[in-house]
Amino acid sequence: MNLITDLDVKGKRVFLRVDFNVPLDENGGIRDDTRIRASLPTIRYLLDHGARLVVASHMGRPKGKADPKMSLKPAAKRLAELIPNKVIMAPDVIGDEVARLKHGLGEGEALLLENVRFYKEEEKNDPEFARKLAEDIDIFVNDAFGSSHRAHASVVGIAGFVPAKAAGYLMKKEVDYLKKAVHAPEKPYVAILGGAKVSDKIEIIESLLGKADHILIGGAMAYTFLKAQGLGVGKSLVEDDQGQIALVILEKSRTKSGSFHLPLDHVLAKSAEAGAVTRTVESLPFPEDMMGVDIGPKTVAAYAAVIAGAKTIFWNGPMGIFEIEEFAQGTIGIAKAVAESDAVSVVGGGDSVAAVKKAGVMDRISHISTGGGASLEYIAYETLPGITALEN
Ligand code: AMP
Repeated sequence: MNLITDLDVKGKRVFLRVDFNVPLDENGGIRDDTRIRASLPTIRYLLDHGARLVVASHMGRPKGKADPKMSLKPAAKRLAELIPNKVIMAPDVIGDEVARLKHGLGEGEALLLENVRFYKEEEKNDPEFARKLAEDIDIFVNDAFGSSHRAHASVVGIAGFVPAKAAGYLMKKEVDYLKKAVHAPEKPYVAILGGAKVSDKIEIIESLLGKADHILIGGAMAYTFLKAQGLGVGKSLVEDDQGQIALVILEKSRTKSGSFHLPLDHVLAKSAEAGAVTRTVESLPFPEDMMGVDIGPKTVAAYAAVIAGAKTIFWNGPMGIFEIEEFAQGTIGIAKAVAESDAVSVVGGGDSVAAVKKAGVMDRISHISTGGGASLEYIAYETLPGITALEN
């Protein structure tokens, strides 16, 4: 995979795919510009080296129709505040006006296209749409790691219609860290998986069996595993249709090397609300009217001991409903344990990143991934469609 520094970009028209899918407030203002800032090293490099830059991103899920609420205009405004270069906002993604603007770009100037998902062809990876995106383009650069698990036209299709392609700095950084966790992870390798849904993470759990030395399970996901074994979990959030596959995973975990850990104790509450009365239990069944909302202190201590011995850590998904103060202790305890370890630690997924922020240990994590889904898929499949497209 080429990096931008491997190519001569001076005077070239560069199509840069970024992830400017930033959260907006009710007035259309940007609530958090982390994703824009994350691509600044690549943008600055390209502009400083005289590229004529065409920047593309998606925003939200407009389902193939132009929707002013999901326009990238606020992102163009913010980008213009962050760099000294001229930033032009395009009225569309393709078409005559965009072609004219692309053509008129000077060296060191940037044109931000409208939301690529305003066209249904984007998510279908339509070749004709990809060819239009590539019109007049000399180099395709992908810096949108967080979108690279999607085989979409601006991520994958376009790569087939350009003379040269390369990864941006953010993409390279993400891949370098995740590679460490996937290809020859220094052992012990500990994977921590939490969150609400097992269904989202089945493939990654399967791929980790036999690869990771320890898989630590938390969050609502744990209750699907416990219920599948016939244990009563009260009102806990469970994916009943995943029971069978949960049993298959438990069975496989017995035959493969490595340990699969489920929580040893649980914080229960009558409802998932702030102020709810909580109770910590070690044994099942849970009372019928209570639900598991967090891992208990015994689990935190046991998981922390495993984490302390780790050399590589991958974490995705909170250990409980950490958004509610009373149910956040398990997740914060794990965040602190990860921060204290001297392992290479990779944390991905919006919720886990928020938890690390909440625990105040951001700067003690080796790598915070900008892509939750993308980092999970990379761990499971060892590559992503957007990365393969840059390599072929
Ligand atoms: P996911 O998107 O699958 O990573 O799930 C993240 C969400 O899982 C967060 O919003 C948590 O509040 C939620 N979650 C974690 N543990 C539990 C639990 N025990 N019961 C209900 N929701 C949970």
